[in-house]
Amino acid sequence: MSDPLQYFQSHETDYLKKLKHLVAIPSVSFPGFEQKVVGECGNEVKKLFTEVGLENIQTFPGGHPERPYIYGEWLKAPGRPTVLMYGHYDVQPPGNLDKWQSPPFELTEKNGRLFARGSADDKGGLIANLAAIDSILKSVGSLPVNVKILAEGEEECGSGGLDNFVAKNKSLIQADVIIITDADNYDEQTAGLTVSLRGLISMSVEVQALKQPVHSGLLGGPLPDSAMALSKILATLVDDSGEISIPEIREMVVPLSADDRQELSSLPFDEHKFRDESGILPETKLRCSAGEILEHLWFKPSFSINCFQASSQAQAGNVVVASAWARIGLRTVPNIDNEKAKQLLQEHIERQTAFGLKAKVSNVSVGTWWKTKTDHPAFKQMEAALAKGWGRASVKIGCGGSIPFVQTFTDALGGAPALLIGVCDPKTFAHSENESMSIEVWRKSVRSLIHFLSSF
Ligand SMILES: [Zn+2]
Repeated sequence: MSDPLQYFQSHETDYLKKLKHLVAIPSVSFPGFEQKVVGECGNEVKKLFTEVGLENIQTFPGGHPERPYIYGEWLKAPGRPTVLMYGHYDVQPPGNLDKWQSPPFELTEKNGRLFARGSADDKGGLIANLAAIDSILKSVGSLPVNVKILAEGEEECGSGGLDNFVAKNKSLIQADVIIITDADNYDEQTAGLTVSLRGLISMSVEVQALKQPVHSGLLGGPLPDSAMALSKILATLVDDSGEISIPEIREMVVPLSADDRQELSSLPFDEHKFRDESGILPETKLRCSAGEILEHLWFKPSFSINCFQASSQAQAGNVVVASAWARIGLRTVPNIDNEKAKQLLQEHIERQTAFGLKAKVSNVSVGTWWKTKTDHPAFKQMEAALAKGWGRASVKIGCGGSIPFVQTFTDALGGAPALLIGVCDPKTFAHSENESMSIEVWRKSVRSLIHFLSSF
């Protein structure tokens, strides 16, 4: 058999079995979860690299020794360009187990979708990369292009070791084009080529007034309430419409260009579909008009309280809580200076007082936004491959999420173009309960990758 597409079609279930196997390893990279499991998943990825026939397979330490970077290559096309393909095998925590309709670490098929944590983000993406290379190698016997492939084990917890890995292994990962298979598609029928990402500044904020919670009847009144104080402090971060209130941060945001606006308005958009896919309740109003949704998602900063903890529902007695803790995040966009914005945010929080209480900021992390030019021929080449793989033209999209290392890669590779594609679609609910991947979207993504790699 010499047609990679046919080979893929007849071996699709084998590749999905590999996905099932990877998904069954709960490789949650967050501190607090057993890191050894992440390392075990890394070992399985290494085995998959071997099965594909990749060579020079190596393991590099991540920010934690149990979260290794796995590298493999196929470099038997001398004189041809080199493509670096990226995916990650670590996952987010499963979240609220009661909300899962099937076990989070058991790949479960329902209505053409595969449900499990990491099914799409990004074990599905990683397997898509491997399936494309494997289908060409096993059918044609060789690739028309050199391929390097990298699997990360700590993307979801901030890629702590990536800068170090890239700095130390610049020549090993040197390539002409980067494919990052960890992004979204516009919808289930339309492939997306992601050309911008938001950045993310996150930090923990804590107010503590007491040594321990006390009886709110016996002692409440004279004591300041930490949860109320933290609420008041956090409330100063946004205006009445929910926009970040710090003027210096707002002023750094570049208004959309006429071209960007044109691109946005050319995309088909259905408000009802958006409401449905976002899970917003029927009675809840959006913060903007339907025509502004994409701009808000891709090109405006947004502020979230990711977690607010003062006690728990189970422990909610008549008490004055001792302390309150929150994790907050600000999504940033061009041209916010992330370091400056981080400082502004932190200073603003530390300046506030409520009932004489102040908040302490800790665990600050900063990931930068990214926006690429699309004039390199690789973009056209990928657009052609996506059109073939999906049977219709792709669209250039932004992404409200963050992949801070895209810039690290492009810098290390001397400005090589980064092509961001993926196996997610708006129904995926990555990072949320009941994450799923559409089998058809995955199939189309693998076909596109086969077309892309074959087009050199
Ligand atoms: Zn991901």
